[in-house]
Amino acid sequence: MRTLSDLSDVAGKRVLVRVDFNVPLDGDGQVTDDTRIRAALPTITWLRERGARVILVSHLGRPKGEVNPEFSLRPAALRLAFLLDHPVELADTVVGPEVEALADKLADGEVLLLENVRFEPGETKNDPELAKGLAALADVYVNDAFGAAHRAHASTEGVAHLVPEKAAGLLLQREVETLNGILAAPARPLVAIVGGAKVTDKIGVIDRFLEVADAVLIGGAMCFPFFKAQGHDVGASLCEEEGIEPATRALEAGGQKLKLPVDLTLGREFSADTETQALDGLDVPDGWMGLDVGPKTAAAYGDIIKGAGTVFWNGPMGAFELEPFSAGTREVALAVADCPGTTVVGGGDSVAAVVQFGLEDRVTHVSTGGGASLELIEGRKLPGVEALT
Ligand code: ADP
Ligand code: MG
Repeated sequence: MRTLSDLSDVAGKRVLVRVDFNVPLDGDGQVTDDTRIRAALPTITWLRERGARVILVSHLGRPKGEVNPEFSLRPAALRLAFLLDHPVELADTVVGPEVEALADKLADGEVLLLENVRFEPGETKNDPELAKGLAALADVYVNDAFGAAHRAHASTEGVAHLVPEKAAGLLLQREVETLNGILAAPARPLVAIVGGAKVTDKIGVIDRFLEVADAVLIGGAMCFPFFKAQGHDVGASLCEEEGIEPATRALEAGGQKLKLPVDLTLGREFSADTETQALDGLDVPDGWMGLDVGPKTAAAYGDIIKGAGTVFWNGPMGAFELEPFSAGTREVALAVADCPGTTVVGGGDSVAAVVQFGLEDRVTHVSTGGGASLELIEGRKLPGVEALT
């Protein structure tokens, strides 16, 4: 993978940067969380300081190939201008003669943001014509959108082959190097914590870690297919039927490495004011659902995590959004924060949990790409990364 330091002098060159400005907006079109915009600043600043003419391209939401003002990148442009303390021009469209004219008149160090690339139907189809249109804007292509790197789209893959020079941005580079480092040469013990809703979302990650990790700690609703496979009653718990077969396989392959909860916190329903009950065991009575791991599990997992040389965590231990069922995820998050080793958290809800508990600064690396980080861990090639070699 080529990186920024592999590029020849960028001064005066038009550099097309694929960023991930897919930020949440409120009803008034205000950015409610600018984490992703801030994550792109190091690369943008690196290029501007060297006199590059920076052209940014991103998607926002799912406008499905149609121009839709609801999905305009204008709020992101305003937010970026504020963060850079420098004007950011927003193009009305993605490609075409008008955008080319704007790109050509950019001065060194100036910044142009293209409109939402998913306004173009060719983006998600990796249409060569759209890729060509994007390539026409640039002398150099930089991809810093790790969160979109598992998709072969025109702005993440196609364009990379059509521009004279290309490289990974600083964020994408850090993501790929950190995640590959965990798999290639982790400080031991390597502990993977895998939770969340569905086994089928994460079975690839579980399988990979059963090969390379020293312990795999399972939590969240995805426990229940495992428990069902073991013959336990799961009551009204969220239990993915399609997860039972892969869970059975993982149980056979996992041996002592695979750890499952030993107790649970139950609720009547998925709600913060529901009746609750502690279960010292795993057979969930009818009319109850397991919504968190219990205190014995959290303590045992915490001990394993605190002794780890490397931790990878994806997926909460329970319905942490609901206060009565947040304790297991909180205890695991605190243990990750206390772990002296390298700690990596990936996944939308797991990252949200770490932020909710105010612990994000005590984790070595918070991954910005949920799906992309899982695919990388599974050992799959990311098209957006492959295109940068
Ligand atoms: P991530 O986004 O970190 O990859 P997932 O999307 O797989 O995580 O799972 C997070 C969701 O799983 C949360 O909304 C959480 O409420 C839910 N969840 C976790 N444990 C349970 C449970 N025992 N019962 C119901 N929902 C659960
Ligand atoms: Mg999620």
